[in-house]
Amino acid sequence: MYRLLFPGSKQKAVTFSYDDNAIHDRRLIDIFNRYGLKGTFNLNSGRMDVEGYIASSEVPTLYKGHEIACHGVKHLFPNQISDGELVREYWNDRLNLEKLSGQIITGLAYPFGVQNAHIRSALELMGLHFGRTVESTKSYFFPEDFLVWNPTCHHQEAIDNPSIVDTFLNPPAYMQPDLLYIWGHSYEFAQADNWADMEALCQKLSGHEDIWYATNGEIYRYKKAAEQLMESADGSRIENPTGVPIWILKDGEVKVIR
Ligand SMILES: [Zn+2]
Repeated sequence: MYRLLFPGSKQKAVTFSYDDNAIHDRRLIDIFNRYGLKGTFNLNSGRMDVEGYIASSEVPTLYKGHEIACHGVKHLFPNQISDGELVREYWNDRLNLEKLSGQIITGLAYPFGVQNAHIRSALELMGLHFGRTVESTKSYFFPEDFLVWNPTCHHQEAIDNPSIVDTFLNPPAYMQPDLLYIWGHSYEFAQADNWADMEALCQKLSGHEDIWYATNGEIYRYKKAAEQLMESADGSRIENPTGVPIWILKDGEVKVIR
């Protein structure tokens, strides 16, 4: 028996997910960068260079150090369009965002949180392997299916109910939280005039020795690699057939399986 740890033997991970590429991403990213936090930004490639939204020329610099993911070219309801439109909405978004950012894009956030099995299978074929919903779990588990990645909570829930973050940071003895996943839209801070609340939240979450600050994709890839560890039936031997070093806690000792 062993417990999966994160890179650098960290006990838990924190990740953020923000949608819609409003100009307020600039201020949010400035906060993330100052506190050493990492996020995944879900962009609509067809809604840039217009008032209120970022310029396409900003993409490589603004989001540097963070992850870019799809959110549909035009932010359409994915369940109310033809199959062809569904493909164009995500395949073109992927092509556009890869060209703008230089990143290889493998995830998305569902517009309006809408998804179903048909949509998920189409996305899988298009090379999009994780998708965020808008269903708060208020828990700290990995998703069972990364294409139905329910976050822990929206940032407003984390602000209004501090116990979500406090329990993650200082869990009771019986609990071993893996992942705190917070999502939202940066324009919500402008609307609610609560940037200070977000800054306080980020400060509280920052600088912890036992936390891995990672993008959605980094967490996805690490977990998928960890799932490939081979453990003997008696639990005495563990082998890693991947090229990704995996940190585990076994018999009270931290080990890196290579
Ligand atoms: Zn959206």
